[in-house]
Amino acid sequence: MLKKIGFAALMLVSMSGIAQKNQTNNQPKLVVGLVVDQMRWDYLYRFYNKYENGGFKRLLNDGYSLNNVHINYVPTVTAIGHTSIYTGSVPSIHGIAGNDWMDKPSGKNVYCTADETVTPIGTTNEKVGKHSPRNLWSTTITDQLRLATNFQAKVVGVSLKDRASILPAGHNPTGAFWYDDSTGNFVTSSYYMSDLPNWIKDFNAKKIPNQLVSKGWNTLLPIQQYTESSPDNSAWEGLLGSAKTPTFPYENLAADFEKKKGEIRYTPFGNTLTLQLAEASILGEGLGQDVVTDFLAINLASTDYAGHKFGPNSIEVEDVYLRLDRDLAAFFNYLDNKVGKDQYTVFLSADHGGAHSVGFLEEHKIPTGFFEENMKKQLNGILKEKFGVDNIVNSSQNYQVYFDRKVLAEHNLDLETIKKFAIESLKKNQDFLYVVDAEKVQETTVPSLIKERIINGLNRTRSGDIQVVTRDNMLPTYSKTGTTHSVWNSYDAHIPLIFMGWGVQKGESNHAYYMTDIAPTLSALLKIQFPSGNIGNPIVEVIGK
Ligand SMILES: [Zn+2]
Repeated sequence: MLKKIGFAALMLVSMSGIAQKNQTNNQPKLVVGLVVDQMRWDYLYRFYNKYENGGFKRLLNDGYSLNNVHINYVPTVTAIGHTSIYTGSVPSIHGIAGNDWMDKPSGKNVYCTADETVTPIGTTNEKVGKHSPRNLWSTTITDQLRLATNFQAKVVGVSLKDRASILPAGHNPTGAFWYDDSTGNFVTSSYYMSDLPNWIKDFNAKKIPNQLVSKGWNTLLPIQQYTESSPDNSAWEGLLGSAKTPTFPYENLAADFEKKKGEIRYTPFGNTLTLQLAEASILGEGLGQDVVTDFLAINLASTDYAGHKFGPNSIEVEDVYLRLDRDLAAFFNYLDNKVGKDQYTVFLSADHGGAHSVGFLEEHKIPTGFFEENMKKQLNGILKEKFGVDNIVNSSQNYQVYFDRKVLAEHNLDLETIKKFAIESLKKNQDFLYVVDAEKVQETTVPSLIKERIINGLNRTRSGDIQVVTRDNMLPTYSKTGTTHSVWNSYDAHIPLIFMGWGVQKGESNHAYYMTDIAPTLSALLKIQFPSGNIGNPIVEVIGK
């Protein structure tokens, strides 16, 4: 009997020892992923003098900043960026081959997260709500955390964009939530749950978007201080809502928002809203409140909408970043209070960058221009003339050309012959540096860096048959104002990456790393398995040893 008591007492002592060890920092309580949509690396320094101490500067001063991180695939677009950050993998493996792609076997166009088998939750809008991560083939770092903790870790994804919430949160999160333009509410789908949690219902009921836009949008600082940017009324800027000119103050914002709830996306208030939802999710789901590490995946999307509309050198984009800086400072304070300083790990990165506007580059004598991106239309004319058959190309997107398998079979046309002819035709266009057969990238005369990014980006069943690479700073004709992104060049592929908090060293580095190194770095930090399709490596200088 005495022996038994002694044994039980010993067990208690040793068990409390384990519990204590966990509480004293074997793991962070929370990992926070901040992916700033379309954030070029140089924004950290172009606006540096106007940042305050608690936001971007806190990350740079207290964290570890990697100055030379690139995206190692094309096309550099949103869905792939978020997926590759969280899987440590690339489109050829993880399956997310674009925001949209053509499914080659069926010839059907696919939106990355569209899922006809699920129903909307929190909205009646089918287009908004019918989404899931079903098209994603690899596991995410968030999946791995769930697996490692036998599903005790909580994982939440938040974004204005469906794809930027769903893909980072992985296959089995606690929840993924995104913004509904038809109501101004945050919603989810039946893939995740049958009803919105009460904390989201409460959040939606507060009508925070209405409050955020109620005073319109004016510059945070006096406008003459925005010396890092072009004059406010530049011809290459797009227009916001009912505004007649691209100029501050945007006084019609509240009235425009009443009619179109999506207008908040183009303003800094979309980021404020997202971070407020992130805070509500910490409270609502109790993230970072016990010894099991949780994960909050946040996408700040207004930077992307503003970039597309106004262009990187606009005062509007600068103002979005200055306000995001203040919002990040408030958010880090919130984390300090609710989770505890140094009890959480943050990383900040971007899904892609963005080119300067063509009009802006022209103003300053930098080589630029537009290329005709509708290769489907161009090629179908030429192919009809040569082979006498209509609609041989069924899609051109993501700088790729797809041939219609059904049309080829019906008319007994040989894919190789058609492809060769199409490549030779496209090569006559001086806007294209390279026109590459997707099956023969390795043997084509292309610099190895670009070659590797093409190979990583091509998914056998979801990508096109031909890949084109445009000259530097050539933008598609649809981006006459503002900008876009997709290519291998530094302006689209060079992204910020900063880690801060629990387990992270202080410093910075100019060593070359890739987007696919983010997930394995987190795996190493958390001592959990790498995601299933991971091709990256832990950045050891960030986490020590
Ligand atoms: Zn994006």
